[in-house]
Amino acid sequence: MTSSTETIIIGGGLVGVWAAYFLARRGRKVLLLEKGFIGAQSSGVNFGNLRLQGRHPDQYPLSLRSQGIWEQLPELIGDSCEYDRTGHLYCAFNSDEAEKLTAYAAVSRSHDLQIENLDRVSIKQRFPYIGKKVIAATFSARDAVANPRLATPATARAAQAYGAVMIENCEATQIEASDKGFEVHTQHGETWSCLYVINSAGAWAANIAKQFGEDVPAFAAGPPQFVTEPVPYRIVPSIQTIDGSVIARQIPRGNVILAGYPRTASDLAANRAPVPPRKTVAGMAALSEVIPSLRSCHVIRVWSGIEAYLPDMIPIIGPSETTPGLFHAFGFCGHGYQIGPGVGLCLSEWICDGQTPTPLEAFGIGRYRTTIAVSEKFKSEFDAGGANA
Ligand SMILES: Cc1cc2nc3c(=O)[nH]c(=O)nc-3n(C[C@H](O)[C@H](O)[C@H](O)COP(=O)(O)OP(=O)(O)OC[C@H]3O[C@@H](n4cnc5c(N)ncnc54)[C@H](O)[C@@H]3O)c2cc1C
Repeated sequence: MTSSTETIIIGGGLVGVWAAYFLARRGRKVLLLEKGFIGAQSSGVNFGNLRLQGRHPDQYPLSLRSQGIWEQLPELIGDSCEYDRTGHLYCAFNSDEAEKLTAYAAVSRSHDLQIENLDRVSIKQRFPYIGKKVIAATFSARDAVANPRLATPATARAAQAYGAVMIENCEATQIEASDKGFEVHTQHGETWSCLYVINSAGAWAANIAKQFGEDVPAFAAGPPQFVTEPVPYRIVPSIQTIDGSVIARQIPRGNVILAGYPRTASDLAANRAPVPPRKTVAGMAALSEVIPSLRSCHVIRVWSGIEAYLPDMIPIIGPSETTPGLFHAFGFCGHGYQIGPGVGLCLSEWICDGQTPTPLEAFGIGRYRTTIAVSEKFKSEFDAGGANA
């Protein structure tokens, strides 16, 4: 038997649930299919950074719109998800990196973001735990964090309260376009018909795009992460180094969470994101350079995630170029948590209004119409000894 709805969303990560939320809030019929549990993949295991400074220049309108949603979580979904406007300190180790910071700050300021430039003396006064190796930094006070374990399920509950239907443990196995829209088949043998499909299937989304003749060079990886034992709470902002070796934050409970490069390849088929032990050792060494007092901390857990990366390190967001009614949103390259709510809003506007006021031309899937070679340098950054090294 075939049941019908207006929009089917493939994937219950942050992007999918926010699209469902905004569609349902406008009274539209929406069904979300999730092959596992809602919020269990990248959206649930990420670092939780809602970073505004240093983003890709084309991403600012979307990013700022999305931050506006994060800032109103209690009003929108009835849950703060431990959202905390901690600020974000971007750190440079040398003059070349300091120049990069200056360039990033200029772009951020052109989008009305308040960025403070800090020299060594002011870093020491404001953030006394930061080590001497950091010679310059910029501070963005509007940047924030939120708990990834909470945000996607809480948004899903709010979307369901507006009437969105969500089915977990239900993989969309085949999607067929027809004159009347789409037929979506599930692993349980059900068929759903709909007018619109949102492909927000995370690292698995490129396979869906390929079924519609849109082949993109996406691959799955994730930053290795770890968390330390709890230590006295004093590091309020997120701390990030320009070279990517350290992205750290302390939660009020005391634990310090670290994400860092190089990223590690993850396994889409096995649904695994293993972290080689030497990456944790290297991460701890890098963290000790930036915050020396953490040198003797014990790491108590490690993990990573399965995220889709694209060679130009910006996502695909927008209508399919081959199939009317199909919308893609994937390939977030490790930055999708911050923009996820905004992406969901834009997708809902495309479906309800035929357009979105947010400029997203840079993210069209059409940029991959011609093959873009993945450079050796780029690949080596992800490999760095391989997932099992
Ligand atoms: C370790 C790590 C740290 C990160 N840190 C940050 C950070 O600090 N800040 C930031 O902004 N971003 C961060 N990111 C990136 C961010 O987490 C992701 O970009 C974002 O969560 C992507 O959301 P999504 O909804 O597109 O994908 P996902 O959360 O992956 O959700 C996609 C869902 O689709 C489901 N699915 C796939 N195929 C099917 C199918 N055929 N049928 C049904 N369901 C299907 C999957 O099971 C999955 O649940 C990080 C990522 C990782 C891995």
